[in-house]
Amino acid sequence: MDPIAKLTAGFKQFRGGRFEEQRGTYETLVDEGQRPKVALIACSDSRVDPTVVLQTDPGDLFIVRNVANLVPPYEEGGEFHGTSAALEFAVQNLEVDHLIVLGHAHCGGIRSMFEEREDGADDSQFVVPWMSLVRSAYLRVQGTMPDASIEEKARVCEQSAVLVSLENLMTFPPIRDRVSDGRLRLHGWYIDIRSCGLHIYDPVQQHFEAVG
Ligand SMILES: [Zn+2]
Repeated sequence: MDPIAKLTAGFKQFRGGRFEEQRGTYETLVDEGQRPKVALIACSDSRVDPTVVLQTDPGDLFIVRNVANLVPPYEEGGEFHGTSAALEFAVQNLEVDHLIVLGHAHCGGIRSMFEEREDGADDSQFVVPWMSLVRSAYLRVQGTMPDASIEEKARVCEQSAVLVSLENLMTFPPIRDRVSDGRLRLHGWYIDIRSCGLHIYDPVQQHFEAVG
């Protein structure tokens, strides 16, 4: 099927199916506005759609998706901070209780750092500078496990990048304030879509714990 026709057919199916089943929920969300309790930063990757893998209902999640689910640090300058704008809206307008950074295995963005082209050329205008946000995680992996395979390095880097984003979240004053007084909690999650595993970061044990 043509990929665009598949989407419009999908919408018609939604209208006659799930929308009809949840019409009351949608009407309430329109009349009273959305009040999600959780904001989530996920990768743009087509295989890890949060509403699919977490089986959410409309109104449950405020989602920001970008390459490699990264959070940039707070910056005063600049004009086009898409991820920061979404975080600001989630925290200050929607007043969410939780912020989740959802990393994932086989992330193309993370992998790109380990796969430099042999000719040294680079035709990326935006991805390379964007991924430099987690260069510290990349360098740590290269330094601590130089003989590991790219797959092993990428997996460790994917999880380390989640922790870098959690640290960067704390550089935003409104987030730091709300975490300090208990109004907001931060979470680091990691999904492996091949084994269908969910791993949640335990800050006490300092590792990702598999959810049974
Ligand atoms: Zn990804």
